[in-house]
Amino acid sequence: MKQSQRILVIEDNETNLELMVYLLRSFNYGVITTGNGAQGLEIARREVPDLIICDVHLPEVDGFEVAKQLKTSAKLKNVPLIAVTAMAMVGDREKVLNAGFDYYVSKPIIPEGFIQEVGSIMQIGRRDR
Ligand code: MN
Repeated sequence: MKQSQRILVIEDNETNLELMVYLLRSFNYGVITTGNGAQGLEIARREVPDLIICDVHLPEVDGFEVAKQLKTSAKLKNVPLIAVTAMAMVGDREKVLNAGFDYYVSKPIIPEGFIQEVGSIMQIGRRDR
């Protein structure tokens, strides 16, 4: 695992955020965090991370808007974007993918599955559209 790989995590639920940060740092990823969608966009533009993991329900700017802004940015559209959300209803997966997210991970976070997913996405990169 390359130490230089940096992941931005945008999540306002502290328990989920702490778990994801703990797991990612355990696997030597560099992690940047915020609990706010507007700040997430600012950080993304400034840092251009290797991967962005984003909750859907967020204060100020929600995950759908974050996805839309990221995917219409020439600088950021190729950064793989994962939605992390408790929405588990049939059709929600399509809804987040249609909003611009490349991948979807549902809450609650299952540690092994989460880390495997992140690792493979880091290798695959953005989903081709
Ligand atoms: Mn939330």
